[in-house]
Amino acid sequence: GIVHDSNTLEETIRVSIRLRPLNDKESAKNDSSDWECINNNSVVFRSTLPDRSMFPQTYTFDRVFGCDSTTKQVYEEGAKEVALSVVNGINSTIFAYGQTSSGKTYTMNGVTEYSVTDIYDYIEKHQDREFVLKFSAIEIYNEAVRDLLSFESVPLRLLDDPEKGTVVEKLIEETLKDRGHLQELLSFCQVQRKIGETSLNETSSRSHQILRLTIESTARKLQKSGTSSSLTATVNFVDLAGSERASQTMSAGTRLKEGCHINRSLLALGTVIRKLSKGRNGHVPYRDSKLTRILQNSLGGNGRTAIICTMSPARIHVEQSRNTLLFATCAK
Ligand code: ADP
Ligand code: MG
Repeated sequence: GIVHDSNTLEETIRVSIRLRPLNDKESAKNDSSDWECINNNSVVFRSTLPDRSMFPQTYTFDRVFGCDSTTKQVYEEGAKEVALSVVNGINSTIFAYGQTSSGKTYTMNGVTEYSVTDIYDYIEKHQDREFVLKFSAIEIYNEAVRDLLSFESVPLRLLDDPEKGTVVEKLIEETLKDRGHLQELLSFCQVQRKIGETSLNETSSRSHQILRLTIESTARKLQKSGTSSSLTATVNFVDLAGSERASQTMSAGTRLKEGCHINRSLLALGTVIRKLSKGRNGHVPYRDSKLTRILQNSLGGNGRTAIICTMSPARIHVEQSRNTLLFATCAK
């Protein structure tokens, strides 16, 4: 979305769509796609079914990636600029949003890898500054916050710090030695992440995951003014829980409870994003969920946001795909 902010034009939230290819299961069932990417910005719904004899519908975004796109492309054109703003002291957040099995984790893992590589390349090219990188990893499951770097799975509390804003109490923050150290921690988080089984995808995750990299940099030489300038900012990589409604998975017992909480966080996120996309004025209800509280410092102020909405092309998923596009449209 483009927002007029004190006479400057600035893009606050970059919204992209990524359509994954049909998978083997879908192809085997002769599923086909009613979605077509007509250019870099638009995807069209054009149903070929007789009972869906509606006019073609076009949805337009900052960028639309078709099923033959690579994650590298998605990163370069959908997230890179936002992710790299962290080295200049600007907080940023990259989200993957979409139903289970639409490609959130596939996309986000790649985007995180590419970002980390580019951030380290940048650091190596800027020897005039000293950089300190810290990494932490959070999972939100049933509105309970867990440290993915900790072996204990005790829920962590959120505290309001007068200077830092919302902080996660006792969250481990690893100071990174080098790229390899970060790679190790990223792999560790992937293993640690809670995996839930749903009727849609046996390996789907029902939790939100936030990987955060905080970068402090200080000029090695004193500035002309005699003060040494330092910058601190955080980049968040957020792999959201599946956006499908609780009613569409097994809506009984714990699964229903999980669904409600997932919706609460996603609902709150939707409201916050919608408010932010309309400008930074007025009340933004960050406090409505753990997810939005944790991300408040990064989403507010001059923070940059990129949302990558992942979509299945399959006909059986068409209702969820429409919901995803609705969310994406509201974020523009
Ligand atoms: P989600 O995290 O949204 O539940 P995943 O990222 O786990 O979905 O993707 C579901 C499956 O589809 C995985 O096996 C993944 O490797 C595959 N997949 C997702 N996106 C793509 C893509 N763009 N190209 C090829 N395979 C993909
Ligand atoms: Mg996933």
